[in-house]
Amino acid sequence: MQLITSLASKLQADFPAYTFTASDTFYWSSDQAQIAFDSNSEDTAALLHELSHAVLAHAEYQKDITLIEMERDAWHYATSQLAPRYNVTITDSMVQDALDTYRDWLHARSTCPQCKATGVQTKADQYKCIACSTKWRVNEARVCALRRYRI
Ligand SMILES: [Zn+2]
Ligand SMILES: [Zn+2]
Repeated sequence: MQLITSLASKLQADFPAYTFTASDTFYWSSDQAQIAFDSNSEDTAALLHELSHAVLAHAEYQKDITLIEMERDAWHYATSQLAPRYNVTITDSMVQDALDTYRDWLHARSTCPQCKATGVQTKADQYKCIACSTKWRVNEARVCALRRYRI
């Protein structure tokens, strides 16, 4: 059995409140209490990360900055609580790489298309520039974790 599949069946036994489902990607669905994992990968750290979102009861978010906090919290929980218990290695650089993806994404979304200043998020799907007052809409987030949270 693949490493990730055997970890998932252990987790399923230890966390019966959630459904672990083999998929082609990783995500946590709070609506369905479901944790999907890429059964063709060996990324056991990502699986523990998704479980951390579940245990921390992460659900909808309104502001992008909240999402970054959720990501940081989920990695912290995965690293400090789950990794030692399931004998999975999660290095600091793995965590920083994952968080960088979100920081880049946030930077791209919050940059004013008109003057390149940094905007403030006024709604889940809208930013406003504090320098030139331009408003712009942003799509629902697409990177990694984002699809699991409905705005
Ligand atoms: Zn601007
Ligand atoms: Zn995440």
